[in-house]
Amino acid sequence: MRVFSNLRNFVLLCLLYSNVSASPENDYEANPDGTLHITFVGSQFYPPLEWTNSNNKPDGFITDLRYAMFENTNDQIETRLMKWEDAINSVLDGSADAMAMIPSEERLEFFDFTQPFYYVSHGIFVNSEGTKYERLIDLKGRKVAMVKSAFALSNIDKFDYDIQIVPVDTELECLLVVEEKVADVCIEVTLSSNALIEDNNLNLEMSGPSFWPQPYVFGVKKGNELVLNKLKTQLAKTYVDGSYHDVYEKWEDRLETNSQNFWTSMQHLSWLVLGLSVAICFFLLANRFLRKKIAEKTSELEEELANSRLLQEQNTYNYNYDHTTDLLNRRAFFEVLDCRLNRHLKEKEPLYVVAIRLTNFVSVISVFGYNSAMDIAVNVSNKLKQFDKSIASYFGSGVFVISLYSKQAIDELVQTFSNYLDSNYEQIEPLPVFGVSDLDEQLESKVMDSSELVRRAITAMSYAEQKRVNLFCYSKEIEPDSRNIKLLNDYQKVGCQQFLLHYQPQVDINSGVITHVEALIRWEHPKYGMVPPYLFIPLLEESGNITAVTRWVLQEVILFINASKSTADNITFSINITTRDLVDENFVSFVKDAVKDLRPNSIIFEVTETELVEETDKAKKVMEELEELGVSCAVDDYGTGYSSLSYLHELSVNEIKLDRSLILNLNQNDRALKIVDSTIKLAHALGLKVVAEGVEDMDIYETLALLKCDRIQGYLISKPVPEHEIKKLLGVAWQEEMVS
Ligand code: C2E
Ligand code: MG
Ligand code: MG
Repeated sequence: MRVFSNLRNFVLLCLLYSNVSASPENDYEANPDGTLHITFVGSQFYPPLEWTNSNNKPDGFITDLRYAMFENTNDQIETRLMKWEDAINSVLDGSADAMAMIPSEERLEFFDFTQPFYYVSHGIFVNSEGTKYERLIDLKGRKVAMVKSAFALSNIDKFDYDIQIVPVDTELECLLVVEEKVADVCIEVTLSSNALIEDNNLNLEMSGPSFWPQPYVFGVKKGNELVLNKLKTQLAKTYVDGSYHDVYEKWEDRLETNSQNFWTSMQHLSWLVLGLSVAICFFLLANRFLRKKIAEKTSELEEELANSRLLQEQNTYNYNYDHTTDLLNRRAFFEVLDCRLNRHLKEKEPLYVVAIRLTNFVSVISVFGYNSAMDIAVNVSNKLKQFDKSIASYFGSGVFVISLYSKQAIDELVQTFSNYLDSNYEQIEPLPVFGVSDLDEQLESKVMDSSELVRRAITAMSYAEQKRVNLFCYSKEIEPDSRNIKLLNDYQKVGCQQFLLHYQPQVDINSGVITHVEALIRWEHPKYGMVPPYLFIPLLEESGNITAVTRWVLQEVILFINASKSTADNITFSINITTRDLVDENFVSFVKDAVKDLRPNSIIFEVTETELVEETDKAKKVMEELEELGVSCAVDDYGTGYSSLSYLHELSVNEIKLDRSLILNLNQNDRALKIVDSTIKLAHALGLKVVAEGVEDMDIYETLALLKCDRIQGYLISKPVPEHEIKKLLGVAWQEEMVS
């Protein structure tokens, strides 16, 4: 329904802003002398509260109140009036600091508010010649104009009136569309709408009583305590020193037009009543008046009760549900699951918890935007709601958790997602992975609480994702190694300080001389000893720390080159990099700066084959830029992944490194021999050099020489050794001195 999509758009807009800019840190800063510069924004069409007058200046009660608040202070204030939605957005994106508004529940999530300084209420405005609609419920099926991002627009969503919203930019436009009969009615603040009708001579009137009385306050972006406290103090000052009273008195005539109208109408009424009272006896009149008052009071009370019940329902909903997906939030889910768990334990019924992660959630956000990703999340939540008796929750960031009662239900769940292609959702499909935990299995381990069930489902889900399978059921073998978490924690504390480089030489088969050296990282950990890279590099990669490590390695290698000028003169150093480095925007400029004093071809970057295939487009561009800097690239671990040379000619790659697994049994394994032979031939045809890794004995060395491999690296030549040892090996003709 359109109403809901409007509310959703507002919430999504706010969420987007909250992601981008509503960070807990306050980015507002005072002037160096401690004074503030506060930019106020507001609507251009909101008389008599605020509007742009004929001299194009801000005018109105709020404008004067602001000046009264900051009179005799050294703070500077600035007022900019614009469309209402633009004003809201400019406070949210930080280009303005404050604005006057109704402090609604939705806004509370993104704004902080001062104490109220005025009250407004809303009304239904109709064309004087058209149908009158007295109550909101009468608007069913009607076209109702409302200002975008206005309180009325989000508040109407709380009621289930089936109306068609006509969103407009300004309060004046809101009335004009009714006069022009584009909309049947508009809902707006009574005070400003009456003023606009009068000022613009519109043929409109308010129909029915006013409703939704609301306080009016100043709002600032959430967390902007500096400005909020200032506004609160200055506003309080106007009450104390009487300046609020002065401003109010100045605008009293226009602010109280409603009550004047009320009195005027009362005067008219009183003449009528006087005429009637001649005919009706005093007792009857008094009696009737009393009955009317009681009826009025009763209906007011009923309305208030209904409103507070509604508010209570709303609060309960907000406390337990995720707004966007309409699923239980995490806290409520654990509560409900705990109850179910006890029942299942008592009755010995099966219970499964399934964690689902949409693996493409983040990429959908970055390619199509937050709204599309949330549309997918809503779509998924609708699928989950179809599962009878189950409880489902949205944990955020594309993760859902659902409890199910049979294996068959799990199959159905997986099936539901594989049927997605059949639904006509615009091509972006969720790509889920599932992790399952089983209460039965948990019983064996005697740990019986809902958080453990969920933790196991999430562990299984992460494992499924890591192993690139669609679903995984928890078993204790997949428990993550707590040492990994400790290692990561230690890295956060000490950075690269405990790292050191070992160097492994490569020998040119033709000359028998060491021409290349690969830098291989080690972690000299005070507790775990020398930690090999396969234990911590993937951790640093997953946690986004690898780019800093790569930079450290490059700098260390350059220090080494500079410190061993004579021996390292003609040596090329290989450095291992990852996809994260390739997609890091500042990588090329960092390398450029680092290698500026080196001779060209001092450095080769090694990237694994799999990573290159996954990031071909980005890699192509970065490699071309690196080539211009005199830094070439090699494909590492060739033979473990896609093993296709076809994509290599598109990339600026100079060499390929055959993986140890191909080399290990070269002389025993005919298939490996054929692969190595044909790869070397094809690589040479493409102008690429070939390096063989993991050469451990002379037989393999000789086979590789026959196959015309260009260089070899392996324990046969040397294990990776510390800096002082590699220095001794450089410049040694390995074949002559060590073999013959
Ligand atoms: P890699 O780049 O393929 O490095 C070659 C690995 O094979 C090294 O293991 C090396 O010690 C080992 N090796 C070399 N010759 C032989 C041999 O004859 N026999 C046997 N059994 N092994 C041999 P290492 O040092 O444990 O490094 C493992 C992997 O860690 C590297 O594979 C590389 O992918 C990664 N790595 C190492 N240092 C870094 C680094 O600074 N940055 C990044 N991103 N990754 C690194
Ligand atoms: Mg390597
Ligand atoms: Mg390798």
